[in-house]
Formats: sequence, structure tokens, C-alpha cells
Amino acid sequence: VQAHVWVKGGCEPGKCGKCHKKIKSFQSLTGLHCVWCHLQIHEECVVCVPPACDCGALRDHVLPPSAIYPVLLVTAAGEPGGQVPAQSRGAPRPLTPRTPQVSPVPDTHPLLVFVNPKSGGKQGERVLRKFQYLLNPRQVYNLLQGGPSAGLSFFRDVPNFRILVCGGDGTVGWILDAIDKANLPWRPPVAVLPLGTGNDLARCLRWGGGYDGENLVKILKDIEGSSVVHMDRWHVQVLPESPAEEGDPVPYEIINNYFSIGVDASIAHRFHVMREKYPEKFNSRMKNKFWYLEFATSETIFATCKKLKECLSIECCGTPLDLSGALSGVAVLNIPSMHGGSNLWGETKRPLGEGRLASATQPPAVTDAETLKTCVQGAWGATRGRDLSPLCSCVCVSQHRPRVSPDLSDQRLEVVGLEGVLEMGQIYTGLKSAGKRLAKCSEITLRTLKPLPMQIDGEPWMQPPCTIRITHKNQTPMLMAPPPRSSSFFG
Ligand SMILES: [Zn+2]
Ligand SMILES: [Zn+2]
Repeated sequence: VQAHVWVKGGCEPGKCGKCHKKIKSFQSLTGLHCVWCHLQIHEECVVCVPPACDCGALRDHVLPPSAIYPVLLVTAAGEPGGQVPAQSRGAPRPLTPRTPQVSPVPDTHPLLVFVNPKSGGKQGERVLRKFQYLLNPRQVYNLLQGGPSAGLSFFRDVPNFRILVCGGDGTVGWILDAIDKANLPWRPPVAVLPLGTGNDLARCLRWGGGYDGENLVKILKDIEGSSVVHMDRWHVQVLPESPAEEGDPVPYEIINNYFSIGVDASIAHRFHVMREKYPEKFNSRMKNKFWYLEFATSETIFATCKKLKECLSIECCGTPLDLSGALSGVAVLNIPSMHGGSNLWGETKRPLGEGRLASATQPPAVTDAETLKTCVQGAWGATRGRDLSPLCSCVCVSQHRPRVSPDLSDQRLEVVGLEGVLEMGQIYTGLKSAGKRLAKCSEITLRTLKPLPMQIDGEPWMQPPCTIRITHKNQTPMLMAPPPRSSSFFG
């Protein structure tokens, strides 16, 4: 059983948790404060407080030290089963790596926290320190110090643990990848605290577009009340036409969010190059939006991508796609958010009650324009207007019709055609909400005949002629934040 661990001072202005009288603060040297449950009391009140500590308001997340046992070194002779390799008999037994055993408090969900302090300026460092204070520091890992493997192996056998990733979409992808490779007995669900800008995945999961200094205790409470949704992940294979021709390295092998080729990727590429050069010009979401618009309306980008249909062909589940019309870009979407909240698939007006059932009866590839009009992306409810993130639309939707449980696990990708720079500019500024729906399918092959800009999950690169195959990889459990408590349309 965990006992309170009292430290002197460090009390925030407030009342004693026992006698409810004010704790007088002399430069916060007075009073006692428990490092696990964060109860604060008068020094003289300590005798009246029962010794057992329940870890307080955050008990669902906390892994108290009493839950961590060092594994006792067993001597070779005393080992149960006695299966000792012959060569080690009699010899001193080699020490096995000492992974401590963890058995958490029953009915809790110890939280494994990964922080990428490089994301989001100084926010990352602050969040790291604060989580170390609120939880057991052994639950909180700085990703710049050795990556996620230490944390994943420490938590490996912890039942019901959950993961919180603090960083951008790229960091989330890194952790999902590490989970793939860690070969855990089961896949833990992942919540996101979005740092920096972009954060499309976090938006879709209602964690917001970027952390702005909100109270972390509240965020931990939201994680406690979150629900598991499954998200498709896609394998992307890039086979260059001639292996001798070298482009940039392909950034990822897995698509979690989206893939695009042509105008949109070109803008992203320019954005990326400029941001590396002048990071100070790209330090706010508002500025980034203006930069996107600036690039989106520049002529040079248009020149690289016009007549896209002459150098690109696409097959969806074996069906060639009709790319006629003015097309300078194609985006393949797994989640309904791109570039910080644009939903390129757009709103779908559909009658009540239709939903997953309809998508289950659809053929493998839907390319017919009329049918596409009624296709909802994933099984999301209607998304109203682009500035209303899924977070908002859920509020609105819930007022008027039964809530469609958001689900990113339909094993389908949405393919959208983008006309040109003018349209991109309109999409980035919210004047227009969507591109042209081309298909909804479960497998895509693209062939290109000239070097073209491409991007995966916001990471752009320049790719020489190649064949790209996108196939379903797996599904991973993610945590979706509870819907906002306020039911007011404007709240
Ligand atoms: Zn305590
Ligand atoms: Zn007191």
C-alpha cells in the first residue's frame, strides 16, 4: 500500500486538506505536501491524516512507487523449474537485465508519457517538467534522450496502460511506429497533447490544434474520460522507375494522416524549406496560415504541377481513375483534417440513419461521382464548415441528430482532386472547403512520369518518376477526448 510521502513547503496558497484552515505561506516554506496525491496540510495536522495515500485526483494515471518492485536476482539453484543451461551450472550466473516488475493499483490505467521537447518551442520543456511533478517521474520520458524504447519496455507488462504523446503529428507517428516494432503483448491506446502547429490527427481526436498552456490536470482528467477509437494505418511503398535517379529520401513508410502529390505537396515543400531557413517567421498558427496562402497563390508552384494528368495515372482497387479536367494535385486522405484543419473531402449531406451500413455494402472502389456525393469520410458525422473542427461539428451535430460515433477505421481512403493554386488558396483561407471527390477505395496505385513534389503527413519531398502502392497496414487504438461539456453552439 502506498503511504503519503510528505515534503515540507511547496504548498500553493490554499487551505489545509485536513482542518480546512488557511495554510499561511512564508515564501512557501510552511506546510506539508504529498508528492503523490498533492494533498497539502499543516505540519501539525499530519498526525490526524491516515497514512495511506490513494494518489489523489490523478490516481487513474499514477504509477506509485509501491507498484514497482525490483526483480530479485534468483540464484541458479533456486530458480523454479531448474532449467539452467549446462554451461552456466556452477559458474556465476550472468546477470539478466534488471527490468523491474510493475503491478499497478487495480482498476487504474497508468499513463506512459512521451514528450518531444523540440515540438512547440519552450512549451515542450514546461510540459515535461509539469508531468514529472504530477505523475511518477518514471512514467514520463523525454524523447530526445534515447527515444521511446525505454518507456515501452518498462511498461511492457503493465495491464491497461495508456500512452500520452506530447508533440506534433510526426512525433505521434514515431511512437505508433515504435509500438509496431516493440512487439508488445497488446497495443496500448494513444492520446495526443498537440505541441507546435499543424496537428491534424490531434484535431480529429478532439485534443485540439495546439497546446496553449491549459491546465494539465484538466487534460489528464480528459484522458481519464476519453474513449478508444481505432484508426487505420496505411503502408506506402515507393518504387523508383530507375533506381539510379536519386530524389530526396522518402520520409515515411506509413501513412497515418494523408498523402498528396502535386500542388498541395509543392506548397508544403516550399513551406518546409522556408521554415528551416527562417524559423522565426513560422512561429504562430496565424502566420503559418498566411504563408500557406502566400505560397498557394504563387505562379511558380502552379507551373510545376499543371497538366498533372499527363504525367500521373491512378488506379483504385484496379480501376483506373478518370483524371480529366483541370487537375494540379491529388490528395489521399485517411483522416478528415489537413494543414491544420482543412477538410478536403468536405461536408456530406446525408439522411439520418445511413452510415457504416452504407459503407459496408459499397464496392471496393467507389469512383462514380453521384455515389461519392453521399460518401461520408470515415464514419464521421457531417462536418460543418471548415473552421469548425471535428470538435465543433460534434457539438453541433449532437444537437440535431443522434451522434455518429467518430470512427477512423473504415479501411477506406478518400481520394480528392485539387484544381490549382487559386483553389488551394481558397481552401487554406476557408473560402472553399473541399476539393473534387475522385474515389473512395481500399488500395491505390499511382504512377508518375516526371519528378513531382509529394508529401506524407506534412513531410514533403521531391520524387523522381516512380510507382507508389498504398495498402492497408493495420489499425491502432487511439484515445478520443470526451466531447466538450458545453452544449451551446457558440460555446
Ligand atoms: Zn498522498
Ligand atoms: Zn490543518
